[in-house]
Amino acid sequence: MESATTQGIEHTSCCIVGAGPAGAVLSLLVARKGIPVTLLEMHKDFDREFRGDTIHPSTLEILDQLGLATPLHEMRHSKISGPTIQFADGPFRPFDLTRLKTRFPYILMVPQAQFLEFITKEAAKYPSFRLVMRANVRELVEENGAVCGVKYLGPDDAWHELRAPLTVAADGRFSRIRQLAGFEPVKTSPPMDVLWFRLPKLPEDLEVPGGLLGSVGRGLALIVLDRADYWQTGLVFPKGHYQELHAQGIAAIREAIVETQPRLAKHAESLTDWHQLSLLSVESSLCPRWHKPGLLLIGDAAHVMSPVGGVGINYAVQDAVVAANILISQLKAGRVPESELAEVQRQREWPVRVIQRMQTLMQNRLIAPALSSQGPARVPWSARALLRIPILRDVPGRLIAFGPRRVHLAKP
Ligand SMILES: Cc1cc2nc3c(=O)[nH]c(=O)nc-3n(C[C@H](O)[C@H](O)[C@H](O)COP(=O)(O)OP(=O)(O)OC[C@H]3O[C@@H](n4cnc5c(N)ncnc54)[C@H](O)[C@@H]3O)c2cc1C
Repeated sequence: MESATTQGIEHTSCCIVGAGPAGAVLSLLVARKGIPVTLLEMHKDFDREFRGDTIHPSTLEILDQLGLATPLHEMRHSKISGPTIQFADGPFRPFDLTRLKTRFPYILMVPQAQFLEFITKEAAKYPSFRLVMRANVRELVEENGAVCGVKYLGPDDAWHELRAPLTVAADGRFSRIRQLAGFEPVKTSPPMDVLWFRLPKLPEDLEVPGGLLGSVGRGLALIVLDRADYWQTGLVFPKGHYQELHAQGIAAIREAIVETQPRLAKHAESLTDWHQLSLLSVESSLCPRWHKPGLLLIGDAAHVMSPVGGVGINYAVQDAVVAANILISQLKAGRVPESELAEVQRQREWPVRVIQRMQTLMQNRLIAPALSSQGPARVPWSARALLRIPILRDVPGRLIAFGPRRVHLAKP
């Protein structure tokens, strides 16, 4: 055992590890039912490196059910309704959300840190909610084969023990809880990695219809997302080539940007230091088992999504909503049978599998050929033909906006 003596034992009904989108939303849903919940987050605040800022129609509909969609829209935001990607054979729109039947036919872009602050502030309106920042969970507490809580190093640098009938691991793609529970995710390796960085908005600026512009060049792709004050930009390159790019230096990155999207020549001059870039090592994985007695995994801890379609946050929130729908009455009763935890996995695993298959298809048919081509990249004719068929053309948009099944909060 790593831990020293703890500062006594604390108790709650639900212990949630990790205040990302999954943990924050689940704790709000539990707290609003008057159930004691403690959310443990190892960072001191929510302000971290870029993690994606996309709030999809599905999440907006859920927030609307909670009366939170309107205040969220009052925050500074931008909107994406569909990307236009420039290929050598012309522009291509892989999905378009404007035709969807929803109050929110767009992806709302709000910085993730502000979104998490907004959700946890809302949760803090309920007296049964407790948030501990700088709480680094290091151990599971187990008794008679069941998880009955965690041990964490608190903001006071002392060890604490927190006991609960249910512990939820919402601690992200490198989940320590998943590892401590002995679960091993099955990984697939998408063919690309992404360097994310900001480019400034300039007076004589780009027109970005639909809020997202993509361009494909020789072995590289560029994604430009319209943010209120800047362009969030991703340079997509073949997996395994990071060291090579890094060795070429920042000037080579500027050249690659200009070659792929000449209209960004002036913007690219603002990149002068490698520290302005952050690497997303693209991963996709699925944990075969999301539960054991007393413990449930949700969000990235259970499944890491490829960035295709930007669905990671949406899927983490949907997991939280399904978990709340199934588990609230058990949490009220103070006993959560493992069969109910298995039900959460049963309802969420297949949508994850469906969307991961779609992502793999797009990666293999569209992205990998474009990244391995040394000539001008083209869209396969079959992709263009499929998206012209009226009953098929909205399928990608619906999958990205909602997944294969719409998730809503259960009526009380
Ligand atoms: C560079 C990058 C860009 C991305 N872009 C997008 C995008 O555009 N759209 C999109 O939908 N998704 C995007 N994603 C993915 C998205 O961020 C995740 O899918 C989503 O955040 C998952 O939510 P989560 O709550 O499951 O986990 P996370 O958001 O990873 O949250 C986990 C939380 O747990 C905390 N934690 C970890 N270990 C411990 C511990 N031991 N004790 C206490 N706390 C702990 C972490 O500090 C963190 O706050 C991106 C990811 C990256 C890395």
